[in-house]
Amino acid sequence: MNAPAKAVQSPEAFLDSLFDESILIKTGVDGLYGRAGVFEEVIDRFEDAVTKMAVGDKATRIHFPPGMPRKNLEKAGYLKSFPQLAGCVHSFMGDNADHAKLVGMIEKGEDWTEMQDATEVALTPAACYPLYPTVAAAGPVPDGGKLFDLKSYCFRHEPSKDPGRMQLFRMREFVRIGTADDVIAFRATWLERGEQLIKSLGLPCVIDLANDPFFGRPGRMLAANQREQGLKFELLIPVASDDNPTACLSFNYHQNHFGTLWGMQFADGEAVHSACVGFGLERTALALFRHHGTKVEAWPDDVRRVLWG
Ligand code: AMP
Ligand code: ZN
Repeated sequence: MNAPAKAVQSPEAFLDSLFDESILIKTGVDGLYGRAGVFEEVIDRFEDAVTKMAVGDKATRIHFPPGMPRKNLEKAGYLKSFPQLAGCVHSFMGDNADHAKLVGMIEKGEDWTEMQDATEVALTPAACYPLYPTVAAAGPVPDGGKLFDLKSYCFRHEPSKDPGRMQLFRMREFVRIGTADDVIAFRATWLERGEQLIKSLGLPCVIDLANDPFFGRPGRMLAANQREQGLKFELLIPVASDDNPTACLSFNYHQNHFGTLWGMQFADGEAVHSACVGFGLERTALALFRHHGTKVEAWPDDVRRVLWG
């Protein structure tokens, strides 16, 4: 059956319908799913449409793995701002006696995780995090700045029954590095392009001011500050709920924060500004399935034309 578009009772009911139709495959952990071939096909086609929009920009494409140096996540301040979301890879580093203890603990059903220690690898929380230190290491940024095209699986510890809130998901990102004017213009261009692309896919959307989920009480001030300065916008689409639409694209201006932090600078020593535009690939695919149904052959012709040419 072609799952009825439009009517979604609750995020959990939407997730169950995706399991029932084998669009997503259960693993037993909320937010950790297998993806059906058709789901991947939709993501591939959507990414091609994004690539087509950006083709004249001549961005440098880089593919980092979904893990990054733990030290760089620390230095980026991620544990200060979002400790609740961070994930670090742990591994067993003991001797034979420790190994016997580990196996014994598992056999007895005990918690064995104390037998592991943190490795040098943390899971990447956003596709752009591994980039900045590599830009700094490449030397002075040329006058015209730089533009990157990135994609990564990202981890955020936010288990949920909302299919739009996964623990491991992919983000396609464009990152612009340059003067304040350069990066603000870049963000403005993508605010227009993003809306145009999503509307061409027959999806209802609004763009709104947003903030990141900074942790704790001091976080509330950071979030208010971010909003006041208009540093983050999101493109929202009703996916698992009509009342709370889901952020599928985000448009972030970092001012010279990362430039100063990582020492990314022009030849005269001035810190660069940066901005990034992130496409949530799973969320966009889910929006398409929700609004057009699970049978892609039956999607409206104009939508199919954008994706399949
Ligand atoms: P953010 O850095 O929070 O603005 O995230 C960038 C983009 O990644 C968002 O616009 C979403 O589309 C996507 N995203 C963020 N968190 C999740 C999640 N838990 N599950 C799936 N997609 C996500
Ligand atoms: Zn980013």
